[in-house]
Formats: sequence, C-alpha cells, structure tokens
Amino acid sequence: MKESIEKLKKAHKLLKTFEYELKEVNRGYTDRTLYINLSDNTIKSKPVTQEMKDKFIGGRGFGLWYLWNAVTGNTKWNNPENEIIISTGPIGGTTQYPGAGKSLVVSLSPTTGTVVDSNVGGYFGPLLKFAGWDAIEIQGKAEKDVIVFIDGNNGKVTIEEAPEEAVDTHILIEQLTEMYADSEEDKRNISVVSSGRAAEHTLIGMLNFSFYDPRRKFVRIKQAGRGGIGTVFRDKKIKALVVKYAGVKGDTNKPADKDTINKLGIKMHKEIHDLDDMQNSMRKTGTSYLVKIMNDYDLLPTHNFKFGSHPEAEKISSAEWKKWFTVTKTDGCWYGCTLACAKTVDVYELKTGPYKGQKVCVDGPEYETIAGVGSNCGIFDPEYILECNFYCDTYGIDTISFGTLTAFVMECYENGIINKEITGGLELNFGNKEAAMELLHQMGRGEGFGLIAGQGVRRMKKIFAEEYGADPDFLQDIGMEAKGMEYSEYLPKESLAQQGGYGLTNKGPQHDEAWLIFMDMVNNQLPTFEDKAEALHYFPMFRTWFGLNGLCKLPWNDIVPEDNARTDEPAKVPEHVQNYVDLFSAVTGKKITKEELILQSERVYNFQRVFNLKMGFGTREHDRIPYRSAGPVTVEEYESRADRYDKQLKELVGFDPEGKSTEEKVKVLRKYREEQYQKLCDAVYKRRGWNENGIPTLETLKRLGIDYPDVVEVVKKHL
Ligand code: SF4
Repeated sequence: MKESIEKLKKAHKLLKTFEYELKEVNRGYTDRTLYINLSDNTIKSKPVTQEMKDKFIGGRGFGLWYLWNAVTGNTKWNNPENEIIISTGPIGGTTQYPGAGKSLVVSLSPTTGTVVDSNVGGYFGPLLKFAGWDAIEIQGKAEKDVIVFIDGNNGKVTIEEAPEEAVDTHILIEQLTEMYADSEEDKRNISVVSSGRAAEHTLIGMLNFSFYDPRRKFVRIKQAGRGGIGTVFRDKKIKALVVKYAGVKGDTNKPADKDTINKLGIKMHKEIHDLDDMQNSMRKTGTSYLVKIMNDYDLLPTHNFKFGSHPEAEKISSAEWKKWFTVTKTDGCWYGCTLACAKTVDVYELKTGPYKGQKVCVDGPEYETIAGVGSNCGIFDPEYILECNFYCDTYGIDTISFGTLTAFVMECYENGIINKEITGGLELNFGNKEAAMELLHQMGRGEGFGLIAGQGVRRMKKIFAEEYGADPDFLQDIGMEAKGMEYSEYLPKESLAQQGGYGLTNKGPQHDEAWLIFMDMVNNQLPTFEDKAEALHYFPMFRTWFGLNGLCKLPWNDIVPEDNARTDEPAKVPEHVQNYVDLFSAVTGKKITKEELILQSERVYNFQRVFNLKMGFGTREHDRIPYRSAGPVTVEEYESRADRYDKQLKELVGFDPEGKSTEEKVKVLRKYREEQYQKLCDAVYKRRGWNENGIPTLETLKRLGIDYPDVVEVVKKHL
C-alpha cells in the first residue's frame, strides 16, 4: 500500500500553496472563510463579519449568503461562478452533546436550477473549523482533476493536480487517508470529501464526507445527497477536498460556558442510554426501524408511490438489518454522538459491476435508501439494497433520487411509455433488480439508458413526452418530483400537511423541512388549515436551525424524554428545544430564547425563498406538486383504498359514490384534493408573511432585518 501511495503522490503537481496563521476558535467561530478559485488558483482568507454571524448564524446561512453574492439570476450550475460552500456552524464541533458535527453544503443545483442545501455527517466541517476556517467557499473550475488539501496544524492550503487517484469513493478515501496521515492514530484527524464516476454522467451526483473508524480500521462515509452537488463538484474537476487537524478536544470549539454544555450533554447521554432501547433502538438498527412503522401506517412508498404498504416489507425491515449490522459504540458520525445511528455492514461481497468479488464495507443502509431503492421499486431483497447502496455511494449518486427515478422509469415501462428498444434491452418492470442494478452501472459507465435516467425525473418527463409521445399530463401526475428534485421516501397522499411539507419547501421535496404525517394523519392534531399552516411555519423554521448550527436533527425527536407525551406540545419535544436554546447561548455567549431561535431560522428561510426568486423560481407555480403525492391517480390506486376514499367522498365532498364508476370517483376526489392543497398554500403563505403568490412581503423582510437593497430589488419585481 505504502509504495502505491508514494507513486500516486509523486504524480501530483503542485499548483498553489497558501500559508496562513493558525488561529483558535472563539465561541464557535474562527471569523474567517477560506476562499478558493480553481480557475486561476486564487486562495485567500475572507473575514466573517459580525453581521453575517448575527443574521446568518453559520452553516447553511453562511452558504446562502456567499452564494447570493457570487451568482446572478442568470448563473447556471455549471458556470464557473457557481460555488460549493461547506460550513458547519457555531455549535458544530461540540463533542459533549450528541449530533453536533454536521456540515452544510450549498450550491446551485443541476436538477432544480436554483439554490440547494444538504446536511451531512462525517468530520469535514468541524475539522475545517478547527483548522481555522468557519467555511470553505470554492468557485471556478480546474482544468484537470485536483485535490485541495488543508493542513490545519501547519497552516497550509495546497491545490494539487492529482491524476492517478481513483475517482470512486471507496478507493479514493482509503488512498487519501493513507496519504495524508502520518500514522494509524493520525487517520482520525483526516476527513475527505469526494464524489464518484457517476456524478460525471448524471445530474444526481452527491458528496461523500469521510471519517475514520478506529475500531473497524476503515474509512467510513456519510452523504450530502440531495440536489446534485456531486455533479457540480466533478464539473469543477475536484477529485477531493482533504482536511487534517490533530488535537480535537472537548473545548476546541472554545465555548463561552463549558459547564452548561457538559451538563446538557450528560443529561442527553443518560436519556439515550436509558430510553433508546425502549423507543426507536437507533443504536442497534439506525433509521431502518422506520420501515415497519411506515409499512404499518400505509406510508411506505411502494411501486412509485402508488401504495403505502406491501406484504413483503418485513424482508427489509430492521429485524432483517439487525442480522447484517455490527453494533459498536463508534457508530456516531462525529465524536460524542451516543445515538450512534450510523450503521454499517462490515463485510459484504459484491456480486456485480467493476468491483465484483471484492469484499467491501457498506455504510448503511438508512431508511431512505431501503425505501427508495427497495420497496418503491418493488424490490424486497436486502442484498440488492446493500449492493445498490454501495454502488450509489462509490459512484457518487444520491440513493433517494436514484430510487425515486428508477421507480418512475419502472412505472413508465409497465405502462408502455418506454420499451426495451428505448432502454437498450433493460426490462425495467417493478421488482426487476438485475435491470435496476444494470441501470446504475450504466450511470457509472456513462452509457445507454442510464444517461437518460440520470437526468432525473423532471427531464425524463420532457424527453418521454417529446420523443416518445407520452401523455405529459400523466407523466406530471406520476413523476414524483417537485421543483426538479425527486421526492424522499414517505407517502404523503393521506396527509395534506405533509403534501405541504414536501411542496412548500425551499429546495424541493425533502423531508428535512417538515415531517407532519403523524401529527396530521395519525394523531389528527392539525384539523384546520390554520393548524396545518402553523405547523408548516414552526417545524420548517425549527428544523432549518439545525442546518445553521452544524447539528443533526435526529437527537431532537428520535429520542425523547420519558415524560414528553405529558407536555403541552409533545411534537415539539419542549425539553430538547430548551436544550438547544441553552446550547446556543453556552457556545456563543449570546443569550437567546426559543422565540429568537425560530426568528434566526425564519430570517435565513425567507432569504432562501428570495434567492429562489432571484434564480427565476420561488412563486406559487413552483410550489406545485405531482397529483400522486396528493391522491390516487389511477383506478388501481383508488381501489386499493376504496373504503377510505368512498367515505371521504361522502363525508367531506358531499358526493355519493354509490353506483359510480371508479374513474368518476377519481375525478371528483381529485378536484377536492387539489382545491384543498391550494387552500393550504393560501394559509401557509399568510402565516409565513408572504403574499398570495408566495412571495415574502416587504414588511416581512423588514421585520426579519433582511431588507438589504438587492434583496428588496428582487422581491419588488414580483409585487
Ligand atoms: S444521530 Fe446518527 S446521523 Fe445524527 S449525528 Fe448521531 S450518528 Fe450521525
């Protein structure tokens, strides 16, 4: 290994070196950003201003601010002006409280055409901060593949041409960790950001963020999956970003009040220790516990979101994954996360593709992957899910988008919209795992139908209608994308609030903004439009806050205090909200209340909505959702839940279904549900301080303190 690494290193060509003064973190910030332009190899330090900290906090907020200033309304994802910004946030890097090591990535997305943010574990963001930088802002494009190396102990940044390292992640991360570590012990001090070969051929490329697992002795990964940022990364010819910082300690983030952080951390660790086994068992099975729950409540997407449960779901539930996962205490994706949900299958022998026969480690699968590439495609085979998970990761492809677009392709295939001639021989029926796997390998090789599918659902709809004569309305109904992003894996049909939770997002239908299905559908806690609108105000704002601070959402409500159900608002988990308020104050020294916490997010959230406007999106028409996410498109779907739908027609619509054809009932129900969605939009816009076209009003911008002249100018054009 050593010799081959030396050979790789020898082939590097140093393009630029930048030396900087080492600097300690102060109350969660270093007050500097590392700016790199790959077109001309500029490397410089930019100040992080007090205004930035006050208004945008960090993480996603910093990313949005930098990108706003870097691009115009005409910038496209593959223009050199587009940037990739990675930042944790003031709390990021804390080791005492679980889930405090996330990085946020912001860029213009190839699939949506507007700004996208993605939240990811692994060590990069915190190590970057400890190396002296609150954020890294990368602009321009390199001519040949480069590696950017940030040496946080020697104060040095280099851009190096790196022609010989692998592009695929599972090889590259091992090579670079070995190359930049001085010893086995030193490997923990390194984190690599990489993508993979399929990111070069598709628009759904993602980024892997690494961390070294000393117990297993291999490099692990977490993914910034959504929105195609891996595609931007490879378009810029970045092979990898590498950061190294040795010396992480409990106080490296230099909080204002370490005692409070210790107390909060101890309380949470005890809660996890005492209650996780009785609650979601995250430490043993990760998020795979959700499969059974979603299936039981008819919410697990199967067959391109047609149905919500399947008799074979048990085969891919956590009971099965327990047999595959090894459980260790090192399954946290940052130091101190005792919830430790980052599960892995340590040894899996690949059966297909370029690495066939190799024994590899598979990071995951997480719930979204299981439901996306599994049940939603009608595949209930754990080994297929593992194989697919591995190849998506090493090829640099988002498992959620891959799953959702494959399910769409399968439904189109079964409906005769596409056929074997078009797919190059792939029989893409639901359940055909060999064909689905080959589709993925085609994306890796950049050939065949994989090139079309890799464009994502939105572009496929256009291609299928224009080139193969498909009915565009039907494609619109069954193509599970909104704003150009593929849906994540929850069936929102029976929850109006969750339809809004997907449709009224800033970046596209990803559940990290709002997950309201249980509150709405199961517990019936949101009976009125106003109730739903309130939830669609509070929860997206609250969840946005994690991304400003470098936090993971899971320790907020995937583990809850024993008496949580007896509190006034159990869905908010009030005790944990208070923990976060206290945590922010203890790190930054700036006292906030829970109302101010929401205000911090609201400011950034509205700024992002205006950013969408700047890029030509962000109005009511862009909050449109495919009808399948609101109700049954086909007779088959209606009849699968006929009792429920008939009852609704009778009780809610005042239409007697007796003796009517299913087609007629589908039509009447559709009219009703589409009206409901529009009424929901009205209520949410009003609650968020937006006008009837979904545009933040000038009063709202003023109240939030983001009425900067260029922001107002963008909004004014729409008022
Ligand atoms: S809860 Fe899971 S995803 Fe979140 S920080 Fe901990 S290990 Fe990572």
